[in-house]
Amino acid sequence: MKLAIYPGTFDPITNGHLDILERAAAVFETVYIAVANNIHKDPLFSTEERIRMIKSCTLHYPNVRIAQFDGLVVDLAQEVGASIIIRGLRAISDFDYEFQMALMNRHMNDKIDTVFFMPHEDYTYLSSSTVREIVRLGGDVSAFVPKYVKEELIRKLRNTQ
Ligand code: ADP
Repeated sequence: MKLAIYPGTFDPITNGHLDILERAAAVFETVYIAVANNIHKDPLFSTEERIRMIKSCTLHYPNVRIAQFDGLVVDLAQEVGASIIIRGLRAISDFDYEFQMALMNRHMNDKIDTVFFMPHEDYTYLSSSTVREIVRLGGDVSAFVPKYVKEELIRKLRNTQ
């Protein structure tokens, strides 16, 4: 049985992320969702807000933990004793970037492998940035994010205009 980490920005977490998480949690003993502080990406939500949203929709998974990190994913993996990095592959467009990352991470630590999961086809075109844009423009994202996340998006994006 192995520990895995699922790193990402999760700005905010979507049903696509949750689909990948559910598949990973069914395979690995423990899955750490690793939330990147990612200051250079200028996230809409603070790390604390992103973690609060993740917590609210993962409470029912007994083997999911949440961590935040600043540095390299491989260093965090080593720190928590994880030998697997989980990533999601939506379409071919993800492949090139994910392939580079996986090989680079293996170059830095060859004891850590990347495992990819494919989401349900409903989530193939879903991304956090699309969801943010839809809310910004007044659209409904109920099919793409949990209710609490939708409310947080509306609070953040519509009250500031
Ligand atoms: P990052 O900034 O590291 O890309 P994201 O939060 O955007 O962080 O994504 C984290 C991981 O989740 C990535 O592997 C990404 O491909 C995957 N992912 C994001 N959205 C989906 C989705 N709709 N279906 C499957 N995987 C997804």
